[in-house]
Amino acid sequence: MESRGIKISKGVLQSDELSQYILETSVYPREPAPLKELRDATASHPRAGLATAPDAAQLLAMLLRLIDAKKTIEIGVFTGYSLLLTALTIPEDGKIVAMDINRETYDQIGLPIIKKAGVEHKIDFIESEAVPVLDKLLEHPENEGSFDFAYVDADKVNNWNYHERLLKLLKVGGLVVYDNTLCRGSVALPDELVPEPRKQRRQLAIEHNKTLAADPRIQISHASVGDGIMICRRII
Ligand code: SAM
Ligand code: CA
Repeated sequence: MESRGIKISKGVLQSDELSQYILETSVYPREPAPLKELRDATASHPRAGLATAPDAAQLLAMLLRLIDAKKTIEIGVFTGYSLLLTALTIPEDGKIVAMDINRETYDQIGLPIIKKAGVEHKIDFIESEAVPVLDKLLEHPENEGSFDFAYVDADKVNNWNYHERLLKLLKVGGLVVYDNTLCRGSVALPDELVPEPRKQRRQLAIEHNKTLAADPRIQISHASVGDGIMICRRII
């Protein structure tokens, strides 16, 4: 995308060649076959760009393994790329509470591949706005401090509502990861150079990143993979 001579890349890296290099040398060769199948099946969807970037997903899998995540939350499923990645990574008796306002793309594209991969039993998919689902989980005191990991990739306007609830649901030492935090690099551009359709998302990302950086309850690391992910570890 070009705006008055400013190039907005597909991801964060400003060199598409370098992005491709990383994908081809380090990500695609290690991508599990069901995930590749889901990525290919999603590619022809008009909104294919919504899927989590494979290099960011690879880092998510590493994080899930490093903390031995067993009980996770997924906000924003679409066709299920990050959901399938999580299901393939956590143990056989692991559980994912996944939520999306619309399960159509999941049912049509993701679910048949997830079933074939033999990991459907780990997923509890709830078709709903995410905030009420998190509130419902919090009605049961045993859920507080019980989750290892949460991945947030939905309506950015609700990120702070998710954050407050997820910090109660996560264990101390648990992780919440937010996607699209660098908004294709537009967070670092002057507002007047940002294409109109991207302005609101960019502003939301800037505000969320700033609030996370000032939150004493978490340790953070802002990783420039995919479209940017903010990794937050609950410390108190
Ligand atoms: N993580 C997914 C993947 O790897 O393919 C991509 C998720 S996509 C970027 C965002 C999803 O969030 C959409 O499927 C949309 O329906 C869902 N969504 C939007 N607003 C939501 C809300 N308030 N609560 C739950 N899901 C929401
Ligand atoms: Ca995303």
